[in-house]
Amino acid sequence: MDCIFCKIVDGQIPAKIVYEDDKAIAFEDVNPQAPVHVLIIPRKHISTILDIEEEDKGLIGHMYSVGNEIAKRKNIDSRGFRSVMNCNEDGGQAVFHLHLHILGGRSMQWPPG
Ligand code: 5GP
Ligand code: ZN
Repeated sequence: MDCIFCKIVDGQIPAKIVYEDDKAIAFEDVNPQAPVHVLIIPRKHISTILDIEEEDKGLIGHMYSVGNEIAKRKNIDSRGFRSVMNCNEDGGQAVFHLHLHILGGRSMQWPPG
């Protein structure tokens, strides 16, 4: 499958990996939108939120736990951060391998635009 994030999982494309375990990896976004901008992805290819299956529920929870760990390591936990999964065109999804954005280090706006 021609998926850029699967290639990062496989090590075919380099990334600044900040965390990895048997189920997920996290790396710096190549085009950061905040002082801290990390993407957490499952090693398993899941295209969109809509493709999450019953058996993946634990994995999604795990992605948020990894996000918490990164927020602590990057010292954005107490001030706070934004965690986002975009879905399809109107959601602004550009890469069709599920990813959780962790954005922090500045004050976020709402509504997000
Ligand atoms: P989306 O718009 O799909 O929610 O977010 C995709 C994110 O992936 C964007 O923030 C974009 O900057 C990031 N991205 C796209 N290609 C690469 C890449 O090859 N390496 C890294 N590290 N980030 C990428
Ligand atoms: Zn993939």
